[in-house]
Amino acid sequence: MNISGKTKVYTILGNPVAHCLSPALHNASFKALKMDSVFIASPVKSGNLEAAVKGLRSLGFQGGTVTAPYKELIIPYLDNITEEGRLIGAINTLYWNKGELWGTNTDGAGFVKALQQNLKPNTLQSKSILIVGAGGAARAITVSLASAGVKNLNIVNIDKNQALSISKPLQTLGCKAHVFDWEKNDIKTALSQSELVINTTSLGMEPNIYDMPPLDVNDFRSWHFFIDVIYQPKETLLLRKAKECGCKTMNGLNMLFEQGILAFNIWTGTQAPVDIMRRTLDEWFDYL
Ligand code: NDP
Repeated sequence: MNISGKTKVYTILGNPVAHCLSPALHNASFKALKMDSVFIASPVKSGNLEAAVKGLRSLGFQGGTVTAPYKELIIPYLDNITEEGRLIGAINTLYWNKGELWGTNTDGAGFVKALQQNLKPNTLQSKSILIVGAGGAARAITVSLASAGVKNLNIVNIDKNQALSISKPLQTLGCKAHVFDWEKNDIKTALSQSELVINTTSLGMEPNIYDMPPLDVNDFRSWHFFIDVIYQPKETLLLRKAKECGCKTMNGLNMLFEQGILAFNIWTGTQAPVDIMRRTLDEWFDYL
């Protein structure tokens, strides 16, 4: 990589960021496209976010991504955000638009794209869907599913108020949320009414690989399609149990991949080299 005085600089803001895939993913893309650009990781210590965004502006950064714990906190420091970012209430992508620093969120759209690749064309809108969890990933996914035309969503979360709170923005998109209690019989009912089951909780994520949401495997049916947004491990306990019951499964890698492609397209204005990004992502996770 030849860095010159003209090299465009992109970054990820977060804390920590040393483990992030983004620099490897996007630098491989720049190289493949022969773009004079570089992607670096910027660890931002607690309390320094406003200064970091000012630094982005004054140093002429071209944009980039935002990760935990700043996806929500960054919003006041941006000039504008997209409607999707506003409804989700969190930003993962930064880009310039007519001299203004904008934020948007590609997590949900990336999820929907990944999901649609695993469904028959034009069937998503008619699917019955259960969302397990009501954190940041759930918020992004539910907004994007509603934007894609899904009219009903079942949601269950350990904190019911949190589930009720993420269902509010869905109303404006014409989607009705049915919130269930985090309780055995209610979860059983929700499962029986839902073909797609999407785990958005962190239950099962490394290092706690023996955890899973309290879904009873006796209620799993072969017509269920289980999706876990977790990508480390690649196969969570939930997905392993679902597979054993003959269910179709999908892990979080495709969502991670698709949101990265969308972000790259937005901040560079250039079509991402999909094959290179896929290879880089696979190599990264094989190495871990
Ligand atoms: P949040 O902290 O915002 O949300 C976590 C969710 O998990 C909440 O609903 C929380 O419930 C629930 N939860 C956590 N611990 C427990 C528990 N012990 N029992 C029951 N529920 C629990 O995290 P995110 O939404 O940002 O991330 C969630 C997962 O999604 C992570 O594993 C993350 O890696 C993954 N992710 C994957 C992406 C991808 O591209 N594939 C993108 C973004 C996230 P409550 O808060 O009510 O307690």
